[in-house]
Amino acid sequence: MLTESRPLPDLDAAATPIGVLRDIFGYAAFRAGQEEIIDLLVERTSTLAVMPTGAGKSLCYQIPAVLGERPTIVVSPLLALIDDQVAGLRANGVEAAGIHSGHSRDKNIEEWRKVTSGRAKLLYMSPERLMTPRMLSAIGRLEPGLFVVDEAHCISKWGPSFRPEYEQLSRLGELFPGATIAAFTATADNATRIDIAQKLFRGEGRTIVHGFDRPNLTLAVAPKADWKKQLLAFLEDKRGHSGIVYCLSRRLTEEVAAFLKAEGMKAIAYHAGQPSEERKANQDRFMSEDAVVMTATIAFGMGIDKPDIRYVCHLNLPGSMEAYYQEIGRAGRDGMPAETLMLYGLDDIRMRRQFIENDGEDDMHKLREHKRLDALLAYCEVASCRRDALLTYFDDSCEPCGNCDNCIDPPKMLDGTELARLLFAAIQETGQAFGAAHVIDVIRGSENQKITERRHDTLSTYGAGKAQPKSFWQSFIRQALAGGFLSVNLQKYGCLELTKRAQGVMTRGHPFQYRHVSMPTKAEKSARSRAVPDSLSERDGELLGALKSLRLDLARERNVPAYVVFPDATLIEMARARPASLDELSGINGVGPKKLGEYGEKFIEAIAEGA
Ligand code: ADP
Ligand code: ZN
Repeated sequence: MLTESRPLPDLDAAATPIGVLRDIFGYAAFRAGQEEIIDLLVERTSTLAVMPTGAGKSLCYQIPAVLGERPTIVVSPLLALIDDQVAGLRANGVEAAGIHSGHSRDKNIEEWRKVTSGRAKLLYMSPERLMTPRMLSAIGRLEPGLFVVDEAHCISKWGPSFRPEYEQLSRLGELFPGATIAAFTATADNATRIDIAQKLFRGEGRTIVHGFDRPNLTLAVAPKADWKKQLLAFLEDKRGHSGIVYCLSRRLTEEVAAFLKAEGMKAIAYHAGQPSEERKANQDRFMSEDAVVMTATIAFGMGIDKPDIRYVCHLNLPGSMEAYYQEIGRAGRDGMPAETLMLYGLDDIRMRRQFIENDGEDDMHKLREHKRLDALLAYCEVASCRRDALLTYFDDSCEPCGNCDNCIDPPKMLDGTELARLLFAAIQETGQAFGAAHVIDVIRGSENQKITERRHDTLSTYGAGKAQPKSFWQSFIRQALAGGFLSVNLQKYGCLELTKRAQGVMTRGHPFQYRHVSMPTKAEKSARSRAVPDSLSERDGELLGALKSLRLDLARERNVPAYVVFPDATLIEMARARPASLDELSGINGVGPKKLGEYGEKFIEAIAEGA
């Protein structure tokens, strides 16, 4: 095992992060946040990086891995993701290896040799494979310089996607004291971040949070009325693009696929009930063909890093804000506009509550999950900028974004300042120590044991809000939560707490507005749908089509996903700039030397033909 830090390798001038970015990966500049993380890892500081999907996490560890002297071990939960990452690196001329149960024994041995012989600097594997005593001692002999934990939120019980096999990874620090640990996640609230950093590097090291904002995603939520109509309206201007429609049940994925097929779309159902070959074939079609709609349960998606998914539609309420954020986050990873729509109905809410009750976990866990669901419902009901509400959940915020349903088409608002003062006063009078149910009992003047025992019937706010029904207050509180006036303390049994914004309403005369929420009716207009902006001219668009089909041929020959050949953003830049020589082509973002040599001539030819 490694017991001491090794000195930094000697870097010649080209062997710098920016040099590797340009000369190997073919990109001109770092994206926000990448360089800082790379620098930390190069100087061997363990780092937890929280970055939105599509921000470019992979390069943040791949570049230090290329620059490092010792091998890098990347822990990744999914086989498909491992294969795609390895293929992506090889396409850029960086040798990498992946060991997993989907490979034959011989293949795994061959991959392992690549690492021991020093040909491959990166080795990808699953946590359960890494953490066996045999593998650990073999890895110890490799003296890795860097461990990368992808999807690091899976290590935390605070997060919604805890995986027991991840818990073992908290031993990495003590097993490999000389190695740097890098952890990446796209979803982690504050408590989860602290927990991850504690587990992986005992809180020593840095946490870098790079905002959760995905400004290129249009956000919209609508009550479910007639899902077929609503879905068709949403898909109307998206027929030429790829997207995902998420459904709660397997049966619904099949029903929706059949419905869309009858409407002339290339729709494929995907769920865990299908035989694995069929599932794999469906996924391959989605990855390699254009304009496929995947109607899927959440079994589909983790590890799908197709960069040009143009929309995600939820036909049912997702499981939590984290799940929602992760699911919509699969759209628009290339940074170009993508649209999202979530439809939710009362049935969904009931079903979600039922799931939580039935999942057999302890009461604390159930309570936490119910509170998570409350936060999601609050998000559905918010009347102000939806993006701000989403970011607020992740301890961030933004100005009204102009790219969500509420900004584009603001709902009608009522003044609720007096009602809010009453609510906030009740929360304060009860010591910010109770959940919504009890606070509502206080303001509505209920006579129950909890009230009398605590003498809450003597408070000034007792009964002061009885003119409004319980359902009104529930919705009102959800809106106050969504607006960041209140927060739910999950560590303290989900009690409501006042935030600075609430103080502003109570003492500084700030107004509080709310939307009176009525239950969805059939008459409610279907979700509005904006065109996915398409800034290419018709001529460039035609060339893009030709480049995409060339890419598909090349990808099929090599048996890799299309974007491993070139991502969409690169093809679009080609269609616009129409490079006429290899030299000009090398100036396009995403064309590194390896790809230039391998595909350059073919693309130049296709561009010349399209001129
Ligand atoms: P994440 O893992 O954060 O979701 P990826 O690492 O898959 O994101 O990167 C998303 C896309 O952005 C990929 O197609 C990647 O090649 C591209 N990308 C990453 N960094 C850059 C950069 N500096 N310039 C241009 N494209 C980049
Ligand atoms: Zn907005």
